[in-house]
Amino acid sequence: MSRYFLLDEDKAATARHGGELDGMHKWRLPGVRCHACGATWSSVGHDHPEVDLSGITEHAEFERPRPEPFTEFVRLRELARPFVPPGTPLPPGTTFGPLVGRASGRFGPIDWLGGIRLLMQPDALERLQAEGIRGPRGCRTELRFRQKNPPELLEIQLNPLGRLHLDCMPPDHPPPCATCGRLNLRWPEAPILDAASLPTELDLFRLGNFATMLIGTERLVDTVSRLQLDGITFRELPIR
Ligand SMILES: [Zn+2]
Repeated sequence: MSRYFLLDEDKAATARHGGELDGMHKWRLPGVRCHACGATWSSVGHDHPEVDLSGITEHAEFERPRPEPFTEFVRLRELARPFVPPGTPLPPGTTFGPLVGRASGRFGPIDWLGGIRLLMQPDALERLQAEGIRGPRGCRTELRFRQKNPPELLEIQLNPLGRLHLDCMPPDHPPPCATCGRLNLRWPEAPILDAASLPTELDLFRLGNFATMLIGTERLVDTVSRLQLDGITFRELPIR
């Protein structure tokens, strides 16, 4: 059985490089104001930086973050659906397109935005890919740097796959809303991965039912360590 690890930002390492980064994706689905469960909500971590929505006539409707009634959310979601692979979850707040924003200073091989969005310098990504790491794809960003000769930062597109095991969720947690799909889950103190759900063909992915969790294989951990790419911490998660 493979071993799997939860990734997090190595804040000591990224702070040492001193880069500053702030931005958001160019397009997004709105949040939803659900008439069935009464919640107004949006998800985080369902990012598709590879997807270009500029060809949609209504692309301006994807620019401003806001909640919408469920029917309007569905209309916009269906406009975006042809741009992602079949079966891709598209919850409220799913984002598309390049990261737009500002950056300054020096960056290490790996950096993060908000602790959940992974960025790499092209050289670091190429070295991982050359070592056979499967999964990460680099997407161009539209970050504006203040300095001359700025570094290039790629955002890593990670598909949402695999699931947390039900055993690590509170036993009384309510089922998802039948209308909007909201699953009111807190970050579990002791995450457990659902073995049957984990992709076998990737070394790095996001969890499908907890997209702010980035998961890597033992091979990823070994390779990052061997190449001395700083910026990530790893914590092994149990599998059931
Ligand atoms: Zn709902």
